[in-house]
Amino acid sequence: MTRPVGYLRVPTAADAVAAVLAGPGRAFLAGGTTEVDLLRLGVTEPDLLVDINDVPLGAVDELPDGGVRIGATARMSDVARAPAIQQRYPGMSQALLLGASEQLRNMATMGGNLCQRARCAYFRDVELPCNKRIPGSGCSAIHGFNRGHAILGTSEYCIAVHPSDVAVALVALDAEVHTLGSSGTRTIMVDDFFLLPGDTPHREHPLEYGELIAAIDLPDLPVARNSRYLKLRDRQSYEFALVSVFAAVRTRAGVITDVRLAMGGVATKPWRARRAEARLAGAPASREAFRAAAEDELAGAVPRDHNEFKVELAARAIVRALEQVTAGGDR
Ligand SMILES: Cc1cc2nc3c(=O)[nH]c(=O)nc-3n(C[C@H](O)[C@H](O)[C@H](O)COP(=O)(O)OP(=O)(O)OC[C@H]3O[C@@H](n4cnc5c(N)ncnc54)[C@H](O)[C@@H]3O)c2cc1C
Ligand code: SF4
Repeated sequence: MTRPVGYLRVPTAADAVAAVLAGPGRAFLAGGTTEVDLLRLGVTEPDLLVDINDVPLGAVDELPDGGVRIGATARMSDVARAPAIQQRYPGMSQALLLGASEQLRNMATMGGNLCQRARCAYFRDVELPCNKRIPGSGCSAIHGFNRGHAILGTSEYCIAVHPSDVAVALVALDAEVHTLGSSGTRTIMVDDFFLLPGDTPHREHPLEYGELIAAIDLPDLPVARNSRYLKLRDRQSYEFALVSVFAAVRTRAGVITDVRLAMGGVATKPWRARRAEARLAGAPASREAFRAAAEDELAGAVPRDHNEFKVELAARAIVRALEQVTAGGDR
């Protein structure tokens, strides 16, 4: 069955917000790499798509305080290759370049990446129950095929993994999300931007209806200059992570003085590994310390029928990422 969908192209952020707020059933359209798929599958049924590609939010700018501002419509490939990102946040550049394919990265925007939806096959099949798609309908994955699903941050209502790679880097870096909505502008710490499923898995972020992501700010963070993103997946390109790790470390005389660690592919939101970070602070940069930190972080894992392998895979990935990022000696 076909249904008509309206389309409107707007020149400014204020126009975009106003156009969505003017009626129900409206959505922003950026690169369209998620939105158009879901529309075709019948998972989302917008009446009007408000195209934000003419809104001048595509730049990557250095800020006076030493940070970097990334516009919401900046393309993943442009951000990955921006000199400020490559030189000062190399692990974030790697996370972007290991996501999707070159063609997709040339279309996909940073704002759209943060708002992309779960890749759970049951979410995308409108014939099957899914609490994220229809609240209260049940979760087909919990007793279904859940090999790719989450082991951290899950609930009895949803165990879908958050699929973004770059968001893993952003949570480790304490990025800020700047938005424009009906009540004006606001700033959301990126770790608070991604919500745990709890009993409301259909709410994935705190954006209100019609609230537009305008920019993402990265703080000036010396530790980020020595960062790395490791992504393990079933095939080496064009595939989502089974486990991924963003690691940034500084050491002095072989002792860890600063560390940022986050994981993808294993949790219902991009997972800041705070337990592991606490264990690593002041520890020697050794395989034993890395393994102990990984085990601490994964102690709360809740595997399901088909994804128990992720617990050990994640522990090994943490160790490997930390070994790689500390391999050159003190930095
Ligand atoms: C085959 C395939 C493989 C992929 N592999 C990976 C991968 O390995 N790693 C990875 O990280 N991602 C992957 N992706 C996901 C891809 O990165 C996202 O689809 C993309 O980043 C979404 O950006 P977009 O600009 O196309 O968003 P759109 O599809 O235009 O929008 C997505 C959602 O975000 C909303 N939105 C868009 N911009 C804004 C804004 N500024 N403010 C508020 N809401 C907004 C839209 O309304 C919509 O709900 C893959 C996608 C595909 C199709
Ligand atoms: S894991 Fe989440 S997205 Fe997948 S079927 Fe269950 S409720 Fe839906």
